[in-house]
Amino acid sequence: MNARKAPEFPAWPQYDDAERDGLLRALEQGQWWRMGGDEVSSFEREFAAHHGAAHALAITNGTHALELALQVMGVGPGTEVIVPAFTFISSSQAAQRLGAVTVPVDVDAATYNLDPEAVVAAVTPRTKVIMPVHMAGLMADMDALAKISADTGVPLLQDAAHAHGARWQGKRVGELDSIATFSFQNGKLMTAGEGGAVVFPEGESEKYETAFLRHSCGRPRDDRRYLHKIAGSNMRLNEFSASVLRAQLARLDEQIAVRDERWALLSELLGAIDGVVPQGGDVRADRNSHYMAMFRVPGLTEERRNALVDRLVEAGLPAFAAFRAIYRTEAFWELGAPDETVEAIARRCPNSDAISSDCVWLHHRVLLAGEPEMHATAEIVADAVARA
Ligand SMILES: *Cc1c(COP(=O)(O)O)cnc(C)c1O
Repeated sequence: MNARKAPEFPAWPQYDDAERDGLLRALEQGQWWRMGGDEVSSFEREFAAHHGAAHALAITNGTHALELALQVMGVGPGTEVIVPAFTFISSSQAAQRLGAVTVPVDVDAATYNLDPEAVVAAVTPRTKVIMPVHMAGLMADMDALAKISADTGVPLLQDAAHAHGARWQGKRVGELDSIATFSFQNGKLMTAGEGGAVVFPEGESEKYETAFLRHSCGRPRDDRRYLHKIAGSNMRLNEFSASVLRAQLARLDEQIAVRDERWALLSELLGAIDGVVPQGGDVRADRNSHYMAMFRVPGLTEERRNALVDRLVEAGLPAFAAFRAIYRTEAFWELGAPDETVEAIARRCPNSDAISSDCVWLHHRVLLAGEPEMHATAEIVADAVARA
């Protein structure tokens, strides 16, 4: 090991007086739930406007956001939901919790986003929703997916847990004619520790109203008579979290601009390293929010990839192994798994299978550092890969 000094990266989450003031504002309202205060509803208006959506519903977390969105889209027993095989498990668990079958579909080897051709092959008469995940903030091919949706009549649900502020051909997440969900968990690009949102485009106001009722025990906003209109649960976000998220939203665009500049440099440096292939782009995905800095070392076994991650961490990088293909978890098989073997799914999802064993990601706080840190990061990766 040479004695290179570890690069320094900004901390995450970030906060300043804007969050402090927000928390005090929420505290001093004297009412700390959305029905009594103003922070959640203000945040919803601001978040919807920022994403070009007609409505946003703030909610406890991104997993509940998916569950609620899928439910208002009619997902339940007897239905199927198409999800990328390479994603965080919530994309699949949300559908399975509703009693639906999750059908994992392969992703593109370069972008790690849903492969439209594989989606076409997986649609059945039971398919209720197709769920693209905008991997690491890079928008999935929304043109091809919109066409499949129009041809089959199956709506899209965007899992935008990585994609706050991202755009497809200039269009924001709320302007793409489909419902979308976000997460505000601690590591995400805006955070209150936990939290989530469902956003609804123009024309989906009815589903928004249903989602509002379901997220609040089926109860209308002004209800004082325990008039529970439909089945639901309590997924309401609290006022403190919303006050923090309002401050975080105000910082989002500036941070995206920095990450975008840094990724342009870092991906070029990584791409020049023998054996390293950074996550690819798509010119149509013209604003990438950069939730992770991802790269593959194609052909690396899972064991050697994990050793590589350990070496990167030792050298001071916030590095992680990529998601495990969802069908390679035990959880996937407990509820709502398709009538296929692991091997059969792996055969039709070769890219997801390979990416989950040879891909590494770096925390987005790396991309908030300066240019010298991008060079230092690439040097560490080059050294570690040479020894992998
Ligand atoms: C983080 C994440 C979620 C879930 O969000 P939580 O707020 O942690 O429940 C869903 N999908 C993807 C792709 C995620 O990365």
